[in-house]
Amino acid sequence: MTDPVPSRAEIVVDVAAVRHNVRILKDLVSVDGPVQLMAVVKADGYGHGMVEVAAAARDAGADWLGVATIEEALALRAAGDHGPLLCWLSAPGDDFAAAVAAGVEVTAYSVAELEEVAGAGPARVQLKVDTGLSRGGAPRSEWEHLFSVAHDLERQGRITVTGIWSHLAASDEPAHPANDAQEAAFREALALADAAGLDPDVTHLANSAAAILRPSAHFDLVRCGIATYGLDPAPGVTPRLGLRPAMTVRARLLMSKAVRAGDGVSYGHTWHAVEDTTVGVVPAGYGDGVPRAAGNAAHVWVEDSQRPVRGRVCMDQLVVDLHGELPPSGTEVVLFGPGDLGEPTAQDWADAVGTISYEIVTRVGGRLVRRHVDSDALAEDEPEDTGRTTR
Ligand SMILES: *Cc1c(COP(=O)(O)O)cnc(C)c1O
Repeated sequence: MTDPVPSRAEIVVDVAAVRHNVRILKDLVSVDGPVQLMAVVKADGYGHGMVEVAAAARDAGADWLGVATIEEALALRAAGDHGPLLCWLSAPGDDFAAAVAAGVEVTAYSVAELEEVAGAGPARVQLKVDTGLSRGGAPRSEWEHLFSVAHDLERQGRITVTGIWSHLAASDEPAHPANDAQEAAFREALALADAAGLDPDVTHLANSAAAILRPSAHFDLVRCGIATYGLDPAPGVTPRLGLRPAMTVRARLLMSKAVRAGDGVSYGHTWHAVEDTTVGVVPAGYGDGVPRAAGNAAHVWVEDSQRPVRGRVCMDQLVVDLHGELPPSGTEVVLFGPGDLGEPTAQDWADAVGTISYEIVTRVGGRLVRRHVDSDALAEDEPEDTGRTTR
């Protein structure tokens, strides 16, 4: 973190951390036999840069990539990815033909969607069943009908059913009764699909938390999002696996200055200096995805210590307590990072504002410049910029 900060405020993503995490996850799930790994890179790779993260995950052996929308899948194809790729969120009228032409596997939740997909040409389709999340996926009452229509379309050569899958509601709480119930319901769906004559290549149920905590839910492949980025899907529950957070958010201090005991800081004066102190102004705010709720709650890292955010987070800036020090303008401020030096992590920010690390890394962006580095390629302490700057 001693390297110069070229930007006012930036997101630095270490693709070596992504590769490291993918290898750890693959090894972990393959202990009792081969299980394929899908790296989930939706929502711009959880804010890490979809294309760069996808390439790193493939390099490290990810068998599949997973995204929500057809647009995301087509963007991966346009960037040169040609491997197995699944998307699972579409609205009527979406461009299934483009997905099919690009070799993207799409997901159908209903007979209507299946027929729409079949209309787009011989398509590779996965069927999603709702086993208890009560979100997307075919409800229990429609499973038999969906499977029999799928089998008919398959016999007509209009689709190939390549997968059957579902999604867990509470995999981050291993003792939650929904886990057993959903796994049992999924096994029932697979039996019904088999009875209907379907023979999918892959069946899958687990996200990151279940990949790590619930081997019985592994089936043929696991869909890992958050753990790919080195963040903990179930804080306080997950064993130590050596995952490495890939994202660091940092900025340059705009200025530091003295404030007197009793002075109010930032909009609304929601914090007053208890004694004479110094504060620093950091050029990132809620317009850059820094949660406004971090006011008087989160910490940042300046000159080897954690400094509390004082007062409200503004649209473009926030103020931190420097406890009497007056570091020069341009001093590096780390909002969060892997935590190696003692800096806060995305999980610390999540805890501070009452959310999950997923939201912290996915929402950060706005005007921040994102840069990808590869710490495996670093000579000593000189970071190698991959030359890709996005946003
Ligand atoms: C986002 C998503 C995942 C990844 O979940 P993580 O908890 O980040 O591992 C897996 N499956 C589906 C269907 C998803 O939407």
